[in-house]
Amino acid sequence: MKICILPGDGIGPEIMAQALRVLDALRADGLAIETEQALIGGAAVDATGSPLPDATLKIARESDAVLLAAVGGPQYDVLPREQRPERGLLGIRKGLDAFANLRPALLYEELASASSLKPEIVAGLDILIIRELTGDIYFGEPRGIAMRHGERVGINTMVYSESEIRRIAHVAFKAAMKRGRKLCSVDKMNVLEATQLWRDVVIEVGAEYPEVALSHMLVDNAAMQLVRNPKQFDVMVTGNMFGDILSDEASMLTGSIGMLPSASLDESGKGLYEPIHGSAPDIAGKGLANPLAMILSVAMMLRYSLNREDAALRIESAVKKVLAQGYRTGDIWTAGTNKVGTKEMGDAVLAAL
Ligand code: NAD
Repeated sequence: MKICILPGDGIGPEIMAQALRVLDALRADGLAIETEQALIGGAAVDATGSPLPDATLKIARESDAVLLAAVGGPQYDVLPREQRPERGLLGIRKGLDAFANLRPALLYEELASASSLKPEIVAGLDILIIRELTGDIYFGEPRGIAMRHGERVGINTMVYSESEIRRIAHVAFKAAMKRGRKLCSVDKMNVLEATQLWRDVVIEVGAEYPEVALSHMLVDNAAMQLVRNPKQFDVMVTGNMFGDILSDEASMLTGSIGMLPSASLDESGKGLYEPIHGSAPDIAGKGLANPLAMILSVAMMLRYSLNREDAALRIESAVKKVLAQGYRTGDIWTAGTNKVGTKEMGDAVLAAL
């Protein structure tokens, strides 16, 4: 198996270093993988002028899975949009046709007190948010800033085709079948025609999965319900923009954005695995970043693309163990626990492995 490694920017290289130590440990135990590193984001802009060099996309396409840390930084915000690191991110998702983004929001018992909600509201929380990743207003045309009637107007287009909705709906129903058989589809059909089609197509696909209890919720209500009673949800499916926002909200229920991995899969199950957080420029280079979301992304990769549930569980158990032992990076630290940096957290995971 070949894995493409994309450390990216900010805390990216720091957390990727810990993930690579985990991979090395598994390799020493017989996991047959090779890795190839490539440039993406600001690091790629600095070296080549492009946030997603052709060479990177080629390596990613030739690999069985891609591990990506994070991209972006304030120094790149002045560049033309096509050169900004985030374009590299959107480009690789699109280039790999990774249309299904799986974002678990799982609350580790030990972190219940790090959640912004009361422990009884979040204890035992286990939601899977499935976000469509290659369509919607993030990619729709026309887009841009234009002059109209003597003033500037900003334009983006929300667009979903039936086939795009259908394929993400199938992913969501299949995921629900493997879990609690409850699927909530989130839209804004009362205002947006694009999401009326979303609802219609999800209902049509649902006819093929009679065992799954399908419900629908408007996005504003979903945002509210996630903080009011999040345990009502099992699997949620939604479009790119709503999913972007709701999955970040759900991540805070779990205590830290630094804990959550994600998978973006194509139709064949090949995937791009990355933490849900960004490059955290405020703490980059200080050895403070939480590497667990990155390490848990390795676990998801083993589960979904490399078919190694055993190795995935081994990593997840190691993470649970270090939390039970009281190791915490600053983002999940609470009084009475042992505050550690990025490398020390990596050391603890390796020891637990
Ligand atoms: P962010 O996720 O980078 O950071 C938000 C907050 O969470 C910050 O306070 C940060 O310190 C903290 N945080 C994030 N990850 C952490 C970790 N592993 N350990 C400890 N704390 C962590 O979001 P932002 O500040 O809005 O964006 C910063 C840059 O990242 C921007 O350039 C943005 O475009 C980019 N970004 C990239 C991705 C990605 O690569 N997938 C996602 C979101 C944002």
